[in-house]
Amino acid sequence: MLRKLLTQPSSRRLLSSGIPPLFSKSSLSPFSSLSSSPEPPSSESTTVEHPGTTISVDRSSLYTPPEHSHESTPETELVKHLKSIIKFRGGPISVAEYMEEVLTNPKAGFYMNRDVFGAQGDFITSPEVSQMFGEMIGVWTVCLWEQMGRPERVNLVELGPGRGTLMADLLRGTSKFRNFTESLHIHLVECSPALQKLQHQNLKCTDESSLEKKAISSLAGTPVHWHATLEEVPSGVPTLIIAHEFYDALPVHQFQKSSRGWCEKMVDVGEDSKFRFVLSPQPTPAALYLMKRCTWATPEEREKLEHVEISPKSMDLTQEMAKRIGSDGGGALIIDYGMNAIISDSLQAIRKHKFVNILDDPGSADLSAYVDFPSIKHSAEEASENVSVHGPMTQSQFLGSLGINFRVDALLQNCNDEQAESLRAGYWQLVGDGEAPFWEGPDEQTPIGMGTRYLAMAIVNKNQGIPAPFQ
Ligand code: SAH
Repeated sequence: MLRKLLTQPSSRRLLSSGIPPLFSKSSLSPFSSLSSSPEPPSSESTTVEHPGTTISVDRSSLYTPPEHSHESTPETELVKHLKSIIKFRGGPISVAEYMEEVLTNPKAGFYMNRDVFGAQGDFITSPEVSQMFGEMIGVWTVCLWEQMGRPERVNLVELGPGRGTLMADLLRGTSKFRNFTESLHIHLVECSPALQKLQHQNLKCTDESSLEKKAISSLAGTPVHWHATLEEVPSGVPTLIIAHEFYDALPVHQFQKSSRGWCEKMVDVGEDSKFRFVLSPQPTPAALYLMKRCTWATPEEREKLEHVEISPKSMDLTQEMAKRIGSDGGGALIIDYGMNAIISDSLQAIRKHKFVNILDDPGSADLSAYVDFPSIKHSAEEASENVSVHGPMTQSQFLGSLGINFRVDALLQNCNDEQAESLRAGYWQLVGDGEAPFWEGPDEQTPIGMGTRYLAMAIVNKNQGIPAPFQ
């Protein structure tokens, strides 16, 4: 199933002409490696004896393509590290531990050392598709700030800001609301030093103190701070939190129903020295503890379950957010692909815009999982009596109710043909469902609408009433 935005980006900000298509036919040819490369010389010649016959096997002219050679490629640091954990632990590790190491291992995790977004990267996200996405999130934050009584000081926190594009568009889009932008202290929660640098650049920051990880964004004159976790963000100030495609990167445990009860899917190293999935011989402590998630699933849901995916990190994070919002005021907006139901088995790996094997070359592909929205709602309500949870609703409803149609019309009034095509394609990717019916360009660049696959949920302090557009 298609989950992240895998198609050619709609050439945000007129990038279209220079970007090669991601699914060009030539790059898909499975035979390209069998071209006229010279055959490697072989001196081997063997005689094999069978009862009654003698077959002479001459390997001197046998062509061995590189991919069939038995020379294994050297192991990456991350592969060695994962194998050593499994070895010294004396057995397999959970899928959650594998996912966490693969994505955020400080030395070699997928996110840690490079820009993974866009046409040249591994996947594309909504803020990279169109400036309208960040602008609409800006509308949401200004509306909630109004409902909060226009506080003079607000912490605007973004979890996992990627390239910082959403925040840059939000600041540009809200720059006319001076009272709002002047109230902001931006806090970016980002584990990747490489992405922190990109965020610094894209927010046009000037350094104030690199020791304190603080700068000023010249987009709106706002102070910007960086942190590794939400806990590090100072509390005691009304807070707005944005989490776009952050939850899907948080580690999940996977459980499977068996005759021995709910056992845990784990990652081990096989005799061929490759990673493989195994099932725990009996329920693990995580299985015993986390399967509680299912007690508040509906009976119909529970009956059908054979596999379950649960993210305790997502629940902890939500509790931290809800406590903060419950005591300091404000709200959080979570947008991600997921379901308003328990998740069965959604973990996926994406490299260079294609789905690949989860266990293949860890650290070189993104791992992500569907977000379990009911577990977020439940965790928030459990953590604080002072918050209310709204949604989920589809991204299409969310952006539509906030007025994206008016925004796209306004932008279309003032652009050339190329920009108009890019705007329409981007708009469709954000709010459409499936292939764009109006598309006349190359098939492989057809915009795919993700408006119903992505869901939006808000957690707000009850004093703020119901947030737009959930009324
Ligand atoms: N919100 C961005 C990027 C989404 S990708 C967008 O929509 O374009 C996930 C982001 O979360 C990346 O910036 C990644 O480095 C960051 N991230 C992933 N796991 C994290 C963790 N455990 N702690 C902090 N940041 C994390």
